[in-house]
Amino acid sequence: MLNLRDFEVWFVTGSQHLYGPDTLTAVARHSGEIAAALDAATDIPVRVVPKPVLTRPDEILRLVDEANASETCVGLITWMHTFSPARMWISGLDALRKPFLHLHTQFNREIPWSEIDMDFMNLNQAAHGDREFGFIAARMRLERKVVVGHWADTQVQARIGAWTRAAAARRDWETGKVARFGDNMRDVAVTEGDKLEAQRRLGFTVNGFGVGDLVGSIAEAAETQVDALIATYLAEYDVVPELRPGGQRAESLRDGARIELGLRRFLEEGGFTAFTTTFEDLHGLSQLPGLAVQRLMRDGYGFGAEGDWKTAAFVRAMKVMSAGLPGGVSFMEDYTYHLAESGDLILGAHMLEVCESIAAGRPRLEIHPLSIGGKQDPVRLVFDAHAGPAIAASVVDLGQRFRMVAAVVDVVAPEQPLPRLPVARATWRPRPDLATSAGAWIYAGGSHHTSLGYAITPEHLSDFASMCGTELVLIDENARIDELRSTLRWNDVYYSIARGL
Ligand code: MN
Repeated sequence: MLNLRDFEVWFVTGSQHLYGPDTLTAVARHSGEIAAALDAATDIPVRVVPKPVLTRPDEILRLVDEANASETCVGLITWMHTFSPARMWISGLDALRKPFLHLHTQFNREIPWSEIDMDFMNLNQAAHGDREFGFIAARMRLERKVVVGHWADTQVQARIGAWTRAAAARRDWETGKVARFGDNMRDVAVTEGDKLEAQRRLGFTVNGFGVGDLVGSIAEAAETQVDALIATYLAEYDVVPELRPGGQRAESLRDGARIELGLRRFLEEGGFTAFTTTFEDLHGLSQLPGLAVQRLMRDGYGFGAEGDWKTAAFVRAMKVMSAGLPGGVSFMEDYTYHLAESGDLILGAHMLEVCESIAAGRPRLEIHPLSIGGKQDPVRLVFDAHAGPAIAASVVDLGQRFRMVAAVVDVVAPEQPLPRLPVARATWRPRPDLATSAGAWIYAGGSHHTSLGYAITPEHLSDFASMCGTELVLIDENARIDELRSTLRWNDVYYSIARGL
């Protein structure tokens, strides 16, 4: 479903006419060579498209206008091979509505000591050309990423690649649509938020639908479609005997299949990228959607339970950011603690809705009662999440603005089997320790709902938050509570001023 080659970034090189046509020809050739290398780089998942060398303000503005209008361009990579007087860039940068990365590189890797002359110096002068460009970006207080190093180095390409992933997610948010079936869980605070500000600042739209609309879509599922989906379940999961065809509760699985067919159809027809449900509003549904939600998340949809549209959008963003990488992304909730001498752990889960993309092995398809909601027992996939480093992240509404909160964790195998726990779950150790991580999280106001992603790194989220003009509170192995509390206070002032009235 998600293919980042659908997106492109434009490679934009600045220069001027001072050096004559031969130099500009060389600049264009070098620029094309670098763009081709970045396009072919394993670590850069989007296409990198070379653009003509820009030497005049009107050319710069025209290119920015094209980038703003392009449906596939998610950002610009800028580089000043020679010197490009930066007043030429003011109107263009002012008009730019897409993220940009300033690549501070040099075509030639090393100084040719015995041969270097002034022609070489004038061609390979990014060392000061890029500083001129950097100044105007700093003067204009523009959010951007600066990457320094030779363009063929894998570390440089990896940093560019991380930014392109964030830019793709940013674009996906700008065009994203969240469907809500039911409102927020009654009286819950953190899942609330300003949908207008979300649309304006973060980009995606959030709209509610009567659960009756979903029930209507479910009712249209044909029995032949249900048969085919049951066959898919039997092929993909270890289905418990009572749910298998002929089993005592086979009809419950057919109900689950109908819910998946109806929900998927509703989301596809509406062009939605994420959705929410709530156990408080299931009128006309036979059971709380569990299996269906798990499978739709696996296929790339964002999801938030209890009407949590912000987490639904964040799950989607992290799925776009990590598309094509191993590891998976899921809706998650900090559920219960293991406060032990062997080290504190968090057991994360939800009532049902954990994405199978994070499963350690083949999931089991089971049916158990749900103690809340007053509906029939829901079918669900049960598994342990696989081990590995991951990030749990949330976005909260502070009233005047949004804040992203992210914790770096290490998912581990549970110390013992959990035979009586009828839901999918993940066990993790937060960095640097539970006391610091959970303390910082609570000071920052992070949600109990999160998006848990394995291939996501702090760099992805830092780039993404920057593109969204949103604060990111990162809690990692270097976290210190006292520093974090100060940062939260400073950020309150900075982001209030930066936003303006
Ligand atoms: Mn919840």
